[in-house]
Amino acid sequence: MNKPLANAELNEIVAGLKKLSRNLWWCWNQEAQDFFYELSPRGWQNMFHNAVAVLHEVSDQELRARLQDDRFAGRARTVLREFEAYMGEKKTWGHTNAPKLYKNPVAYFSAEFGWHESLPISAGGLGILAGDHTKSASDLGLGFVGIGLFYREGYFQQAIDSNNWQTEYYNPVDPHNIPIEPLLDADGKRLVCEVEIGLNVVSFQVWRVNVGRVPVYLLDTNLPQNESLYRDLTCRVYGGDSTTRIMQEILLGIGGVRLLRALGHAPSTFHMNEGHAAFLTLELIREKMAAGKTFDEAQALTKPECIFTTHTPVEAGHDRFTPELMNYALQRYLSNQLVPFNDILALGRVKPDDTHEPFCMTVLALKLCRAGNAVSELHGEVSRHMWQSLYNVPEKDVPIGHITNGIHLLGWMKGSVRQFWRRKLTDGQNNETQFFRDKFGADWSSVINNADFWHKMTDTEFVSDEELWALRYKLRRELIEFARRKLLLQSQRVTPGDFIRFDHLLNPDALTIGFARRFATYKRAPLIFQQFDNIVKLVRDKQRPVQFIFAGKAHPRDDDGKRFIQQIIHLSKHSELAGNLVFLENYDIHVARQMVSGCDIWLNNPRRPLEASGTSGMKASCHGCMGFSIMDGWWREGYDGTNGFSIGDDSHSPIVEEQDRVDSANLYRTLTEQVVPEFYNRDANGIPRAWLKRMRNSMATLVSQFTTDRMVKEYTNKYYQPK
Ligand SMILES: *Cc1c(COP(=O)(O)O)cnc(C)c1O
Repeated sequence: MNKPLANAELNEIVAGLKKLSRNLWWCWNQEAQDFFYELSPRGWQNMFHNAVAVLHEVSDQELRARLQDDRFAGRARTVLREFEAYMGEKKTWGHTNAPKLYKNPVAYFSAEFGWHESLPISAGGLGILAGDHTKSASDLGLGFVGIGLFYREGYFQQAIDSNNWQTEYYNPVDPHNIPIEPLLDADGKRLVCEVEIGLNVVSFQVWRVNVGRVPVYLLDTNLPQNESLYRDLTCRVYGGDSTTRIMQEILLGIGGVRLLRALGHAPSTFHMNEGHAAFLTLELIREKMAAGKTFDEAQALTKPECIFTTHTPVEAGHDRFTPELMNYALQRYLSNQLVPFNDILALGRVKPDDTHEPFCMTVLALKLCRAGNAVSELHGEVSRHMWQSLYNVPEKDVPIGHITNGIHLLGWMKGSVRQFWRRKLTDGQNNETQFFRDKFGADWSSVINNADFWHKMTDTEFVSDEELWALRYKLRRELIEFARRKLLLQSQRVTPGDFIRFDHLLNPDALTIGFARRFATYKRAPLIFQQFDNIVKLVRDKQRPVQFIFAGKAHPRDDDGKRFIQQIIHLSKHSELAGNLVFLENYDIHVARQMVSGCDIWLNNPRRPLEASGTSGMKASCHGCMGFSIMDGWWREGYDGTNGFSIGDDSHSPIVEEQDRVDSANLYRTLTEQVVPEFYNRDANGIPRAWLKRMRNSMATLVSQFTTDRMVKEYTNKYYQPK
């Protein structure tokens, strides 16, 4: 019989749930998500799967009444117990391997963070990587704090107008309705710090994001005491012109250091995630000069404190500011200092004396870090070449190393897939599952990050072809149903008949190829349609149909990228591809998760070597979706001939037109000669054995290798705490 819950216990659960809702831990814990979903299924779906919003939607009265259901209360208790255990865990990897970081943590600065769709303050891969970095820092139990900006309008939402042209709109987020909380001082009042920007002193408040055990502080200038120019400084991700940009970066770098000091932190390492944060070095120099050091001494002392990760060889990714703009933006900041402005400018120049050379944030970061790194092996080579002129050494000795990017596995793994693997582990009766139970007990997140677990994927005893194929079918259907619903909502005029019409879009039996990422032109979204007539034939093949799902945003000022979107949407509506090619609007983390799990093939065709790493393909492997990619970025390290498909080889033409032509021919050839035949080569039971073998290899060799768990350990051993 259901025993009524005592008030004290009810209060405890309610308080626990409120606390839990403001910790992003739930976005990589399935039971927690299921619990909030069940509290309000529509609220969960409509409000970006956000636990805080669900608890606002459900009244206190309702919550208490619902918890009078034994089973439901039991689930809440289990989740809260797991959460408390996670937060209180003392025997972590960091405890054993990097204990010094507890006293002097790593301070990780990034202009964007992508953790979850309810907090849209990321423009793309860089932010997602930063988000995943902090999640793994938490899992590993590192001494780690993050610094970023709170953009109240976030990154833009994408809408497509009747000319198939991307338009942008902004949804202000309500800070009280998302998983963040105000940062208070010792007296319980809002903590407010100051930073000099332009001619003014600008105040900022701070939002704390609890990423499991890791705090990330987001700086926000939207305070009444600031002039409106400054109040809006943190309105949008990369919004406005270069004046806004430099001011945002002053806030991030200089304001971020001020905040850390206000909180009493003495970081052992300042990690600049991309050049946006490089002004932090000026503040570290200023601090030392205020304590009596000379400019040269202060520089020499700052350099050992900083490390820098560069993320792209694309020119536009490296901020450059004119001396005039630098002077305007840093005027007040530099006015009380003894450093001549020209000495500051020289720090951002390849040729310090060239007064025509703009100030480059990447150069500043490289000059003032003890170590710099790129994000894949090839990107390391490219970066050493790119910045050799900064150093008087042969290219191979340029001090830029590499750590290949990864993803936070549990955060990206779709719910149904987590359940699948978990069931395999808990229900399985064979020796294999016993092996993992003995090794890890109930600690399922360690199992899932473990290479031994993924190596088991080549073993048909552990998981059968039939099971894997059933899973693939399930995931493909989930994606197609998601796409149909989304396309219906996207369409401008819907008549009742459309509900049925949209339910016939896309074919749950067809080979499904996905492409989703920022529509930067170097990523060449429409490349595959250069072979238009051939692609039509593939799509029209009744026996072996192929279909395409595209998504992605172009930067608001990138008209070339918007033309790519226009072209693809036009094809999806008005060409022979209609019905078998769709474009999903408003690409974000949620759309990404549906696509990387449901597609059979993840297409990636950047202009080599411009894709420094790429991470979306890494999200695919654990779902049994295979890579089909140019040999650029991470794929060049991951692909071994048996675990996916390659487009071309480890080389590229220096002539862009030639490269496009060759790549498109190679893409089509591999698609028709390998991908399609293997997918449709079925045995008597309808199972594509060779395809599944390749898929097993992909899971066995890629999943545990390209995680932020591996990546953050490498950062720790190599850069945060070099042995
Ligand atoms: C993973 C991801 C990216 C990065 O994808 P790339 O393949 O590295 O370009 C961008 N945006 C979103 C929403 C993502 O989830």
